[in-house]
Amino acid sequence: MCNNRHSTERRDTMQVCLNGHIVNADFHRHPELREDFCECCGEETITNCPNPECGKPILGNLRRATGFPLESRHSAPNFCPNCRESFPWARKEAAERLEEDTKESVDVLQRVFSKFHLMVQKLHTRRRGKKTLEVTDEYDLQDLLDVLLTPYFDGINSEESTPSYAGKSARIDFLIKEEGIGIEVKMTRKGLTAREVGDQLIIDIARYKEHPDCNTLICFIYDPSYKIKNRHPLIEDLQSQSTDALKVVVFINPS
Ligand SMILES: [Zn+2]
Ligand SMILES: [Zn+2]
Repeated sequence: MCNNRHSTERRDTMQVCLNGHIVNADFHRHPELREDFCECCGEETITNCPNPECGKPILGNLRRATGFPLESRHSAPNFCPNCRESFPWARKEAAERLEEDTKESVDVLQRVFSKFHLMVQKLHTRRRGKKTLEVTDEYDLQDLLDVLLTPYFDGINSEESTPSYAGKSARIDFLIKEEGIGIEVKMTRKGLTAREVGDQLIIDIARYKEHPDCNTLICFIYDPSYKIKNRHPLIEDLQSQSTDALKVVVFINPS
């Protein structure tokens, strides 16, 4: 919105609650409508940008100097036009949207992972003995998952590296950048014990914790010959590595 208004126009200040409900868009003209707390949700109200380096009034209704209304504002702005910082309600909304999107994506991944072994078995029984993709190691596993996940995630990326941890950086198996979901896949094989898989994933988790774009890490362990006997302690151990900044979710299939 252009603030370069004619001198005969007056922009009032808006009083908004921290959840974004407009309490009074004519804060100066109608002092009788001021409220310290929102009657809708009970949250505290503000009239100025909360950024301590800014503090400019939040823009309310516009009138002519005579009082004639020129523009009535019906929704609280998302950003401060002075410092460009988003207001608390816009940040809250963005965080809620991200949480919702992340939950949906994790549900999709769970569905794919829960049928993974079944899909591999189907690949192994092709008509007329035609060639197929045998899933014998983590490369096969990654290629197959890459195909299976393509319809669900446009921005799925497997080219990035995790920041270096203990002097080493490694390629991320998959990263859904928009939602900040990293996917790390492991496949058990002869000579690779449950403990080693767990140890490898603990190192991966530490690495992902350093990644600025990752807030959820999905660990998928494909265990076709049931090498991992006690799955629950392993899942619990890995998931207990979660922090506020990185949530760890573990799936093992076939279950
Ligand atoms: Zn409110
Ligand atoms: Zn500001």
